[in-house]
Amino acid sequence: MTPNEMAAAETQNLTDGFHLIIDALKMNGINTIYGVPGIPITDLGRMAQAEGMRVLSFRHEQHAGYAASIAGYLTKKPGVCLTVSAPGFLNGLTALANATTNCFPMILISGSSEREIVDLQQGDYEEMDQLAIAKPLCKAAYRILHAQDIGIGVARAIRAAVSGRPGGVYLDLPAALLGQVMDEIEGQKSLVKVIDPAPKMLPAPEAVNRALDVLKGAKRPLIILGKGAAYAQEDETVKAFVEKSGVPYLPMSMAKGLLPDTHPQSAGAARSLVLKEADVVVMIGARLNWLLSHGKGKSWGEPHSKKFIQIDIEAMEMDSNVEIAAPLVGDIGSCLSAMLAGMGDNWSKPPQDWTDTITSKKETNLEKMAGRLMSNANPMDYHGALGAMREVIKDNPDVILVNEGANTLDFARSIIDIYKPRHRIDVGTWGIMGIGQGASIAAAVETGQNVLAIEGDSAFGFSGMEIETICRYNLPVCVVVFNNNGIYRGTDVNENGDGDVAPTVFVKNARYDLMMQAFGGEGVTATNPDELSQAVRAAIASRKPTLVNAVIDEGAGTESGRIGNLNPQSVVSKKK
Ligand code: ADP
Ligand code: MG
Repeated sequence: MTPNEMAAAETQNLTDGFHLIIDALKMNGINTIYGVPGIPITDLGRMAQAEGMRVLSFRHEQHAGYAASIAGYLTKKPGVCLTVSAPGFLNGLTALANATTNCFPMILISGSSEREIVDLQQGDYEEMDQLAIAKPLCKAAYRILHAQDIGIGVARAIRAAVSGRPGGVYLDLPAALLGQVMDEIEGQKSLVKVIDPAPKMLPAPEAVNRALDVLKGAKRPLIILGKGAAYAQEDETVKAFVEKSGVPYLPMSMAKGLLPDTHPQSAGAARSLVLKEADVVVMIGARLNWLLSHGKGKSWGEPHSKKFIQIDIEAMEMDSNVEIAAPLVGDIGSCLSAMLAGMGDNWSKPPQDWTDTITSKKETNLEKMAGRLMSNANPMDYHGALGAMREVIKDNPDVILVNEGANTLDFARSIIDIYKPRHRIDVGTWGIMGIGQGASIAAAVETGQNVLAIEGDSAFGFSGMEIETICRYNLPVCVVVFNNNGIYRGTDVNENGDGDVAPTVFVKNARYDLMMQAFGGEGVTATNPDELSQAVRAAIASRKPTLVNAVIDEGAGTESGRIGNLNPQSVVSKKK
């Protein structure tokens, strides 16, 4: 404080940057911070906690960031991640970029060093022009320099994160801002409550009619539900549209459970068939990116062509990969309500031969799988282990499933049915590894539900230390590590004879369960499906932090799971 400010402080009530930030967040209903303390934001975390916010400290910023983004996905309010300057900021940036890619609303708030020194590149502690670096990796980036701008700065960050297509926002708080003082009453007046942060966006009536015309002409229609539809929390409207239309649907992985996977209209078990054969496809909050082969090629039955109706809040998403015959730009609730109104009372359902073909394909595929799910192979194969997990979720449909890995991800996605909206969280649009513990922590904190995280041993390793965080906050998270001694498989051999193991191989027979015991949680090793099932059921009943080391046959996996085709092939030699 300057002498003038000190003199003023004696006669008036003051507030400062720290308190204004906390007040601004709280005023906007943000009550949880995920982060890692350190200079210059340690006191910000302490004061936020003292002011009644929940402050969850992590061991690494990346996982705090993933947690914030999943908090955003689950609540439609921006999840906040708080980090220190330069290195902490960079660690959080991966999560911010991932949030933006996935359309999850989050705000990465980072402290930063002295502006004057940073801008002259004079070598400050953790010096970095963070705003410039964050900008290309997020939806919006702001820096606040004056205490009186905190209200409007936080408001901008919130609106940017949740309006239109949600995404990641960066908010830069130079250390000097935090200690700036101003009159308390003026400070309170400067705060901004964001009115209607994610305004509805109604589709144009002619766009609705165009979409209905295309759908009416369909002989083999298909609906694809994406995680944008799950995010929208318009569960009843989605259900009403799917059921009134009678159109078979495919859920993208995080849209599983929006309608229960056991719903008669689910075409999940006939995925290849419906993608190939459909003549009209209604995309609802899903993108035609790599996860859907960009909407073209053999898996889409080319050379036959299809017509797409696409519902999305982001106009620029239309025609991203193929022509969209009926773009419907607006929020999912408004678009589907308008479609439902336009369908009237006499909407005719799709031709019976189309739905019959799908039903019989489903039955064949499910029957084929059922036998394999009973596998009692020892060590376990994926089907045996996941067959047991499928039953656990069936009996405990409120449990939120978190899933990452390669084979562990691919098999679990198709084997484990999900019954409720937003009850499956996974590697998302990037296919990122390392979300396991961050996502689990956020899911447990934001919903209070039990979380079951099924992770490959490699995927688990990216955020393994965060099991201490899970124990510290005593969260009802059960982590199951599918331990096959390595990445994809544990069987690769180094052929140059230098004594190192192959690059994809880990320590054999590692005891991940002992890691959990180190922090006071339950740690169990399971070598067969019964043991695995018992351990997970016990964890759900007790709500105690648990890690089950599930011993999987080290030869059972395939390279890169189902996306091995994305590996470039050497034409010179490929040693097996
Ligand atoms: P998936 O991976 O399940 O296909 P994506 O993340 O690729 O899902 O697609 C989600 C889409 O949903 C994005 O294009 C996004 O713009 C859109 N979206 C997100 N929220 C809404 C909403 N409330 N209304 C309409 N579209 C939304
Ligand atoms: Mg593995």
